[in-house]
Amino acid sequence: MRVYISVDMEGIGGVSHPRPTDPKDVRYGASVALMVGETNGAIEGALDGGATDILVNDSHWNMYNLLPADLHPAARVLQGQKAWSMVAGAMPGPDGGPSFDVALFVGYHARAGHPTGTIAHTYSSAPVETRLAGRPTGEYGLNALVLGAWGIPVGLVAGDDALAEEVAGWLPWAERVVVKTADGTNSASSVHPSVACERVRAGAQRAVERAAASASGRDVPGGPLRTLELERPIVIEVEYARGVVADHAAILPGAERVGDRGVRFMSDDPVVAFRAFLAGIRLAGSVE
Ligand SMILES: [Zn+2]
Repeated sequence: MRVYISVDMEGIGGVSHPRPTDPKDVRYGASVALMVGETNGAIEGALDGGATDILVNDSHWNMYNLLPADLHPAARVLQGQKAWSMVAGAMPGPDGGPSFDVALFVGYHARAGHPTGTIAHTYSSAPVETRLAGRPTGEYGLNALVLGAWGIPVGLVAGDDALAEEVAGWLPWAERVVVKTADGTNSASSVHPSVACERVRAGAQRAVERAAASASGRDVPGGPLRTLELERPIVIEVEYARGVVADHAAILPGAERVGDRGVRFMSDDPVVAFRAFLAGIRLAGSVE
């Protein structure tokens, strides 16, 4: 079983405020240690579930947070400035087939605009809401869309309770691991890191076991894992805080400027829609 693990920081247990997720903050090192802990929990669980190949994609901020020497030696780690961001390294191989059998999302968080989700945002602080097929969604939904197009089901999503509730609506087949309860955008009550790691480990094991069972057509508790499939065309809409930001995001060919502060992109190809979303976020980031 080939396992892809995308790890963010805002949804890690014990991380409750955006400031310690910033590499410049004095508490950032402590956040990295917590992130390493849950990442190793996911790796151990994946191994317990039968993983033979594991790639960890460091998916937070500048994307070189994890300390490689502290990670479980069974996994490879992808770090640095990656054009494909949180889904880098998961694209199909030369034969066009899926590169991984299952994806695990660790340290994930609720969507931009969620009223209580801990450090809720989508890809940057620029969007105030992101919608897929007309429904608000977050990084978990957009990343699941493109991974699904590449033939990879999402088997686990770990973060706070607000995220778990959202994921139940978008990826009902995925294991949902809760490591903290959202108290508000900048506060959460977390279980102890050792408890969080064990929850992630157990969830990762179940997810990989279910992926293996799904692949061989065997019955499995929780049912088979699925890829996220949506009706065509795929429609991604982003609402920005200011019109000028939307203007810049909408300069992308094919993008449509809608409403006061919105941008819409439609494509029959989910990968094209995702690329347009990501490009729009980057263009939005260029506005002062
Ligand atoms: Zn994030």
